[in-house]
Amino acid sequence: MHKIDMELVEMTLDVMKYSIDRISSTNTKIGKPKKAEELKALVGETITEDGIGGEMAFNLWKKHLNKANVPADHPRHLAFVPASPTRAAVMFDLVTSASSIHGAYWMEGAGGIFCENEAMRWMVSLTGLPEGAFGVFTSGGTAANLSAIVAARENWRRLDEAHQKEKGLIITSIGAHSSIKAMAKVADIDVLLVDTEDRLETPELEETLKQLTPQQRQRLFAIVATGGTTNAGIVDDLDGIANICERENLWFHVDAAYGGGALLADSVRHLFNGIEKADSITIDPHKWLFSPYDCGAVIYKNPELAKKAHSQEGSYLDIFKDEGAHGFNPTDYQIQLTRRVRGLPLWFSLAMHGTNKYKEAVERGIELAHKAAEMIEARPYVELVREPGLSCVLYRRIGWKPEDYTHWTYENHRKGFALVTPTKWKTGDSFETVSRFCFINPDTLEEDIEQILDSMA
Ligand SMILES: *Cc1c(COP(=O)(O)O)cnc(C)c1O
Repeated sequence: MHKIDMELVEMTLDVMKYSIDRISSTNTKIGKPKKAEELKALVGETITEDGIGGEMAFNLWKKHLNKANVPADHPRHLAFVPASPTRAAVMFDLVTSASSIHGAYWMEGAGGIFCENEAMRWMVSLTGLPEGAFGVFTSGGTAANLSAIVAARENWRRLDEAHQKEKGLIITSIGAHSSIKAMAKVADIDVLLVDTEDRLETPELEETLKQLTPQQRQRLFAIVATGGTTNAGIVDDLDGIANICERENLWFHVDAAYGGGALLADSVRHLFNGIEKADSITIDPHKWLFSPYDCGAVIYKNPELAKKAHSQEGSYLDIFKDEGAHGFNPTDYQIQLTRRVRGLPLWFSLAMHGTNKYKEAVERGIELAHKAAEMIEARPYVELVREPGLSCVLYRRIGWKPEDYTHWTYENHRKGFALVTPTKWKTGDSFETVSRFCFINPDTLEEDIEQILDSMA
């Protein structure tokens, strides 16, 4: 027993030291993947009957396994949507784990859920949704989108007997995130895509509505707009789309998983006008609100409608609906039952730093996108594909073929220098391979961007 206790103490100290070193380090390395066989050859058998010991396992992690990861917060990781959790949030993520809180029901997690709700109240205030609107934290944007779409579909079915046996239909644009299509599949809903990757505006949408067959119109229950497309940072015409939804009696969902953080930024807030009319909104704090993975959120104008769709029934759950357990039960508003109080690290970091720091950090991402655009315009061998959208910049290296972009990406990654990946941009009927930056980390330097662009010369 004594030996085990000593090992536990040492392991705890090692973990704390590693965590402190990691969050205070300013020169993390960009790791690169190895094949599973290669990793296996490096670490050998780790799961054994007697255990290999904490020290050994931790050393394998530090020496081999962690080096096969790309830290999402590296200042030259500008691919996909990177991350940049605050140090406060990362440390409080450890506290969240250590506190062992079951975050489904107030009865068990009142303290943690209270904190989540404080952070949520602030997020709701950013949207301008009316009194009564509220939300819950989810595992990410995908789970948030699924929760919202199912709430919308169940509401539609409840309102009209005739819809009960009908397969629902939603409209969005090809600029929408892949998770919309994927989650529609999960919920067995058809998706009609408006063929534009640019800003979804009312004329195209009206045209699409006009072309629906009566049967399709009968099945249509929601329109999904994007508040900051993942590829290009484009914010759809939310106000115009909201008005159409109101007129047509359709649920209006805004997927702002990536762009939601920009609601804080005075420089671009006007682009989101109309979001206050949404029935539901997705925002990922693990993208632009500086939370560690994983933390998404879904917000509803009328949370009662979500509760009707998601509240789980079971004799073993009845106790939670008892008088003594009165309070807000996050499980009722999204697809998960047992859940981590994943909004807790965000709460702590917000409480510690204040919301102004968040505003500055988001504005910095937008500023970096504009700086990058200026640098691109100043160089003869690259050009902008379009003006930056929020913190996304699409640009082309003149004369490059798709394989040149791929080769350049792999070279930079192999050297541990940067992770910048190509994407495609649709104009008319053709897809062009282009390069893309997405800025989240306020510690990215202008020199980082210069060096990356120099490496394309
Ligand atoms: C990232 C993203 C998602 C998916 O969110 P996850 O947290 O990865 O599940 C959905 N929609 C948009 C617009 C996104 O950028």
